[in-house]
Amino acid sequence: MVVLGAGPAGLVLGNLLLAGGVDCVVLERATAEQVKSRSRAGFLAANTVRILDRHGLAEGLHRRGRTHSTCEFRTEDGRFRLDYATLGRREPHTVHPQHELVTDLLTHYLDAGGRLHFATEAVAVHGADGDRPSVTVRGADGRTGTWQGRYVAGCDGRHGAARRSLPPGSVRHHRLDHGVSWLALLAEAPPSLDAVGYAVHERGFAGHMARTPEVTRYYLQCERGTPPGAWSEDRIWDELALRMRASDYGPLRRGPLLHRAAVDLESDVLEPLRHGSLLLAGDAASLISPSAAKGANLAVLEAELLARALIDDLRHGSPDALADYSARCLEHIWRAQEFSRWMVGLLHRVPGPAGDEAAFHDSLRRSRLASLRTSRSCQDWFAENYVGV
Ligand code: FAD
Repeated sequence: MVVLGAGPAGLVLGNLLLAGGVDCVVLERATAEQVKSRSRAGFLAANTVRILDRHGLAEGLHRRGRTHSTCEFRTEDGRFRLDYATLGRREPHTVHPQHELVTDLLTHYLDAGGRLHFATEAVAVHGADGDRPSVTVRGADGRTGTWQGRYVAGCDGRHGAARRSLPPGSVRHHRLDHGVSWLALLAEAPPSLDAVGYAVHERGFAGHMARTPEVTRYYLQCERGTPPGAWSEDRIWDELALRMRASDYGPLRRGPLLHRAAVDLESDVLEPLRHGSLLLAGDAASLISPSAAKGANLAVLEAELLARALIDDLRHGSPDALADYSARCLEHIWRAQEFSRWMVGLLHRVPGPAGDEAAFHDSLRRSRLASLRTSRSCQDWFAENYVGV
């Protein structure tokens, strides 16, 4: 079994296959240091924690992660808070930065004797129509090689070799560009409020999310194509303070920016998540806009489903779960996509329309926020989807 990519999907899959007695190797393009320091997600759903617990992979998360259960909306009509752990399924998030989760999963896999090759880029998957697919690889020194297995799991993200190797027309590619872009910022500064902050402002969206007691993630909606370095740190902090209405609700705790990236909010889904003996999981299967913090959670869920199905097939000769793998994941994926699209509409002005049409969309957005502020059933629905995968 060959697994491409050592992100959350590939490492959960590798750990579970190893524990289930399936011989596998993980091939990763980046170095170990790069993999351990790539900061992206942070909010883990209760179901993700349950999955990691079930397989003894949650020790670091319980030691260093923090429970989080409140979000605050700041809008032109005032602010309101939702304590989502008292709503819907009454579940909180656990805040545990993705690079720490990946480091935990990596350590567990290597300590258990798992095989993993860093600085090994998968170039292409061949023979997925048959039952001995192979992967050509290139090392950092330019040397090439080939790995072969009964199946190949593509957990190598949106731009990986698995997607590239799918024959034209073999899967359907659904895509949506939400038309919105963010500067994703990581600040060496303590959180400024004890909640996730969503600020809806005429100048654009701003977001605040705790990562650790010393580090906070901020998002700032920007024009499409804005280079990540275009704004000075002062301009970024002033704009965040303005959109988060710091003069009304309290100042932001400023600090140096550790990392910035431009993120275009896009979503896509490949259907089915399989072509012959090539199976897809995580961002390789479906990219989801970060507006609802779902990507890493879906990656873990899919990796568990895929591991179970592969163990059934390879160890017990039972192919049914593998045959159902794609359909089971797609149910979760589309539900998460729908909620993430709803969040994009809640938090941003719809790009494109002008004049009366823009004002109409704006009023719809304000009405949606008002429902969330005042309707208990709307709040329950929000909480169930916000924390659920
Ligand atoms: P990845 O984490 O991308 O891992 C893929 C791995 O494959 C990488 O290590 C890569 O180096 C490797 N690779 C790529 N190509 C090759 C190749 N050809 N050969 C070998 N290896 C290869 N999700 C949440 O759930 N909650 C959040 O709060 C959240 N916040 C986010 C914030 C931002 C700014 C962004 C950008 C994303 C966020 N996400 C969040 C999404 C989440 O980070 C991703 O969905 C998640 O990383 C997907 O995991 P993965 O294992 O599928 O892919």
